[in-house]
Amino acid sequence: MPVYDYKCRKCGKVFEKFLRSVSAAATVKCEKCGSSQVVKLVTCCAVSSGGKGEGSGSAKSSSSCSTCSGGTCSTCH
Ligand SMILES: [Zn+2]
Repeated sequence: MPVYDYKCRKCGKVFEKFLRSVSAAATVKCEKCGSSQVVKLVTCCAVSSGGKGEGSGSAKSSSSCSTCSGGTCSTCH
């Protein structure tokens, strides 16, 4: 059963979610604030190793800030 990481665009909370079906993905809500403004994070095994320095993973982390480490909080924009 796949587990996906989600991040709340409202409060920045990152949480894991079991998806029992495709339709369940449309109803994922933030565990912290209950907002439906969540984005699915790509957590493939190939990304977590750090890459070779030019992957999309490193580009993503470079745009993050010390506040949220994800690039989606109000400080980032
Ligand atoms: Zn939230």
